Amino acid sequence: METIKIVIAGPRGRMGREAVKLVEETEHFSLVGVIDHKFEGQKLSKADDFKSNAIIYTDIEKCFSETKPDVLIDLTTPEIGKIHTKKALEYGVRPVVGTTGFSDADLKELEELTEDRGIGAIIAPNFAIGAILMMKFSQMAAKYFSDVEILEMHHDQKLDAPSGTGLKTAEMISAVRGAKEQGHPDEKETLAGARGANYQGIHVHSIRLPGLVAHQEVLFGGDGQTLSIRHDSFNRASFMSGVKLCVEQIMNLDVLVYGLENLID
Ligand code: NAP
Repeated sequence: METIKIVIAGPRGRMGREAVKLVEETEHFSLVGVIDHKFEGQKLSKADDFKSNAIIYTDIEKCFSETKPDVLIDLTTPEIGKIHTKKALEYGVRPVVGTTGFSDADLKELEELTEDRGIGAIIAPNFAIGAILMMKFSQMAAKYFSDVEILEMHHDQKLDAPSGTGLKTAEMISAVRGAKEQGHPDEKETLAGARGANYQGIHVHSIRLPGLVAHQEVLFGGDGQTLSIRHDSFNRASFMSGVKLCVEQIMNLDVLVYGLENLID
C-alpha cells in the first residue's frame, strides 16, 4: 500500500493526540506536519509528550506548501475547522474532518468547493463505528416506532449542542417517519428548555457532565413497550478505527461525504 502523507490540525487536543498515535502506529501513514496555534517551528516531540519529530506550523498555507500532504485530519474547533477545510481544498489536500459544529450553510459551501476542486473530502461528526450502527439501527426502528426522543451525553467541555451525532440521528429518523409532533398537544414548558430541542417533532436532549466522553441513547416508545438503542464511547481511542478508514477511503473519492454511515455498508 502506498504511504499516505498526513497533516493533523489540533495535535495537542484530546482527539488530536489519539490521531497522532494512530498515524505514528500505522505503517502506511506518515505524519509530515501538524498545525497548532502555538509552538511555531518546533518539533512535535519537543513541544509535548509525543514520539513524532513532525514540525509544528501555525500557518496552514506554509504547512501545505512545505510538507505537500495528501490528507489533512482536522480536530480543532468549528470556526477554525471550517477555515482549515477550505484551505485544504484550495491546496488540493483531502480533508478528513472530525471537528463538529458545521452549519448546513457551511456544508453546502464546502460541498461546492469540493466539486470545484474534484478531490474527496470527508466530514464525519462521529468516527465511532458503533455510533454509526446506533444511528442506522435507530433509522430501522423508526419505521415501526414513530415516537422517539434522543438523549445525547457528552463531557462538559464540548462547545456545540446538540451534538453532530444527535442531530444526524434526528435527520435520519425524520427521513423515514417524517415530521410528527409528539406528546400532549397542550403540553407547556413551565421551565424553558425542559423538553429539549425540537427537530421535526423529535426532542433532542443534550446532557453535559464531567466524566462523560460521548454517549447517546435513542428511546422509542410504543403501546406497552419501549426500545432503547444506546452507544457509549468510553475513550477517544474508540474513534480511531473510523479515522483510519476515512483516511484510506478518501484517496478514492472525488466528492464530499458527510457522515461515516455513507462509507460503510
Ligand atoms: P480539544 O481537546 O479542545 O482539542 C482541540 C484542539 O484544537 C486544542 O488542542 C486546541 O488548542 C486546538 N486549536 C485551537 N485553535 C487552533 C488553531 N487555530 N489551530 C490548530 N489547533 C487549534 O477538543 P477535542 O475533544 O479533541 O475535540 C476536537 C473536535 O473534534 C471538536 O469539534 C469535537 O466536537 C470533535 N470530536 C469529534 C469526534 C468524532 O468522532 N468526529 C469525536 C470527539 C470529538 P488549545 O487547547 O491550545 O486552544
